[in-house]
Amino acid sequence: MKTIMTKDAIKTTTTHYTDGAFVPSHGREVRDVIRPADGQLIAQVTLGDEEDTRRAIAAAKRAFATYGTSKPEERAEVLRRLHQAASARIDDLTAAMVEEYGGVVQFSRPIVESAVNAFAAAEKALQQIPWVRSWDKTTVTLEPVGVSGLITAWNANALFMCLKFASAVAAGCTVVIKPSEMSSLQARVLVEALHEAKLPNGLLNVVTGLGTTVGAELVRNPDVAKISFTGSVAVGQSIMRDGAATMKRVTLELGGKSPTILLDDANLKEAIPAALVLAFMNSGQACAAGTRLLVPRKQLDAVKRAIVEAIQAFPVGDPTDPKIAVGPMMSQKQYDRVQSYIRKGIDEGAELLVGGEGHPKGLEAGYFVKPTVFMNASNDMTIAREEIFGPVLSVITYDTAEDAIRIANDSQYGLHGAVLGTDLARARRVASQVRAGRVLINGMTDDPQAPWGGFKYSGVGREYGRYGIEAFLETRAILEP
Ligand code: NAD
Repeated sequence: MKTIMTKDAIKTTTTHYTDGAFVPSHGREVRDVIRPADGQLIAQVTLGDEEDTRRAIAAAKRAFATYGTSKPEERAEVLRRLHQAASARIDDLTAAMVEEYGGVVQFSRPIVESAVNAFAAAEKALQQIPWVRSWDKTTVTLEPVGVSGLITAWNANALFMCLKFASAVAAGCTVVIKPSEMSSLQARVLVEALHEAKLPNGLLNVVTGLGTTVGAELVRNPDVAKISFTGSVAVGQSIMRDGAATMKRVTLELGGKSPTILLDDANLKEAIPAALVLAFMNSGQACAAGTRLLVPRKQLDAVKRAIVEAIQAFPVGDPTDPKIAVGPMMSQKQYDRVQSYIRKGIDEGAELLVGGEGHPKGLEAGYFVKPTVFMNASNDMTIAREEIFGPVLSVITYDTAEDAIRIANDSQYGLHGAVLGTDLARARRVASQVRAGRVLINGMTDDPQAPWGGFKYSGVGREYGRYGIEAFLETRAILEP
């Protein structure tokens, strides 16, 4: 992925990463990269095609013949080198995420750190995998599934690339990554970094391109055993459907409409800022965003006042400014999508408390939207059912804790959830009834060994820690009489 600075200081990327080297693109289509903060053209990227993808798959297949038989200790060593190589470029990776995606620096840096840490976390998780188990005359071993296609979304591309790649490496798989076409510059910085880990040729291959060409080839190619995908429900469904022809194993990390349950003993001074962090993290462009806030009916007025006060701590603006909490949307398309949902919320009769349609004042040049909170939303409104993928929060009232759990689970999604309350035993009881892959108690926290993934339409399978590695393994039993 060679980058040349032209006379206009527009970056140009014309190569993919195949078999340990940056190779010229066979695909000829060129895509403009627009900076979301000001709508300016910053780069042009040549997109790969089916032929680029097939070359990358062939390289991964050749490498699998050797790497697929590696010992866990050798894989641990590869993960250590990857961790070191990625760690050296944290500043550059953060800068790329801020510029190309518009992620605010206060969020982008920790996300990049998590991305880099994925290699160390996978090395640790690898030690917990029972690679060989035997009893009587039976021996069970865990084997790498084979060449894996890793397809990412644009809202935290480096994290998804590193998480999936780290798990695949730990399992003994070789990969072809198709980063989101909206994240080509970020992907390039990451691949340049990982190149320094001196990997066996063909272990890592990265083809920049569209889902309908590069992604579709990965899904239909018989030499690819597994697809690990992060993105929308619609594309996830098409991968499951089209992958069936070659019996693909699939991990699908899809969308969400996550509930935050505010219990009636919650301290609003802490709980409301925590609820807003959950709603507006990554400028609301987060699969896990807590976009439905369920509050006790009797506390509605106090909650309203607390939101109006707490939202002051979520200023919108230049993503490079460390004080800014909400940056621009990723694209004009994403801006329009968020606007249409805000309009829909108003049309459906929800009460607009803060935010609303249009650009925030003085931020007309980029794809900025106003962080928006609707009160008195009902769970059957479009804004409470569909994933908006922007900083729009719907506040829904409930009468009893059972009622809150029912509303929380009344969604096609089940990715994430949160419970806020003082009585921890009660908060835990409520959390244990939320049908979602991850439920946080009392605010934002993370554990790189804890599984991540969805119930229902939020996906299939899990990532992170040993769960993520297991998703790239097959089980083989050898029996003797
Ligand atoms: P998307 O589904 O449009 O694209 C995701 C990836 O799939 C991209 O790389 C795209 O090029 C590729 N793709 C598109 N069509 C394809 C096809 N036919 N075959 C193979 N690949 C194809 O999603 P997006 O707009 O990039 O991301 C936003 C979505 O991702 C949201 O729904 C969000 O909730 C979800 N998401 C989920 C998680 C999670 O961990 N569960 C994390 C982040 C984002």
